[in-house]
Amino acid sequence: MKLETLAVHAGHIADETAGSIAPPIYLSTTFERSTDGDYPRGYHYSRSGNPNREAFERLLAGLEGGECALAFSSGSAATAALIGAFGPGDHLVLSSDVYYGTRKVVREYFERWGLQTSIVDFTSVDALRAAMRPNTRLVWAETPSNPLMRIVDIESIVSIAHEAGALAAFDNTFATPALQRPLEFGADIVMHSATKYLGGHSDVLLGALVMRRAGDLLERVRDVQRSVGGVPSPFECWLAMRGVATLPCRMRAHCEGAAAVAAFLDGHERVIATHYPGLPSHPGHQTARRQMSGFGGMVSFQVPGGADEALDVVARAGLFLRATSLGGVHSLIEHRASMEAPGTTTPANLIRISVGLEHPDDLLADLDRALA
Ligand SMILES: *Cc1c(COP(=O)(O)O)cnc(C)c1O
Repeated sequence: MKLETLAVHAGHIADETAGSIAPPIYLSTTFERSTDGDYPRGYHYSRSGNPNREAFERLLAGLEGGECALAFSSGSAATAALIGAFGPGDHLVLSSDVYYGTRKVVREYFERWGLQTSIVDFTSVDALRAAMRPNTRLVWAETPSNPLMRIVDIESIVSIAHEAGALAAFDNTFATPALQRPLEFGADIVMHSATKYLGGHSDVLLGALVMRRAGDLLERVRDVQRSVGGVPSPFECWLAMRGVATLPCRMRAHCEGAAAVAAFLDGHERVIATHYPGLPSHPGHQTARRQMSGFGGMVSFQVPGGADEALDVVARAGLFLRATSLGGVHSLIEHRASMEAPGTTTPANLIRISVGLEHPDDLLADLDRALA
């Protein structure tokens, strides 16, 4: 079935009690045992499993083309559970332009328990190849990346990882399975902050991992999840399923709006650089065309001057709301470096935009005022 159909049907819960079309929400934390001590429906305690969580996992695995998925209380919990499945002495390679929190959790927490990490620029495949070691277990990339919208070639990263006996994981939060499915290019794991486009309305905090194959790694990650407990609430899963049903439609509108915004910024005299993979001048444009069916709703740009000048532009925005995060119906604007912590590699004059679902004409008018 096509993506639009899967988005509506792949997580369906058959409701035996009332035949409801919208799925029921199972709030119970505990489930009844049979007289012989079994759990006939497979549920016993909701840290281990819950029908709404499993429905969301089925839905996301369907969309990404994976055998199985696990949902977590946030994208960060998903990242931590995956990395937690590796151990002291294992080596991980991360691309230099990944989500700030991913770099932080790896550097500040996992290095403390003996995990080795290297951070390299994946736009150079030679740099990645040189970083591989005999004990490299995982290569972690993000494309498009945050916040510079860099594109890396999924297939070449997967092949370098596999040649070295490592797994390849991609943070697919920015693209979503509506635009890019890394598992189809051979990746082993896809990670999501479902807080963003999958939820789609800025009202859900949720994360997920999708695995190409069920197997040993899935069981190790599931064990981390059950033991450490970063599981989502049934209501968050329910909201995310409702969001995903409209994901393919929303992504088309986000892409259309972002393309208009990027073209406008690219031609604006008060903008010195625009980062959007849909622009033919973007260094990753050809790669993006090969592996994505649309270029997404995220745009970043740089203005003359430094942090003060960028903050002034952000302050003059009206329709664009000043907030972090992305992927919701409202367009958001943020000065990214001051959102991240000291030591960030984000340029001080960079502004990041999440293009919402407003009419592009109104967004362009607002940006024109902000830049004046
Ligand atoms: C937000 C985000 C995360 C972290 O997800 P949370 O749900 O906030 O924990 C990870 N990666 C990317 C690309 C993100 O945008």
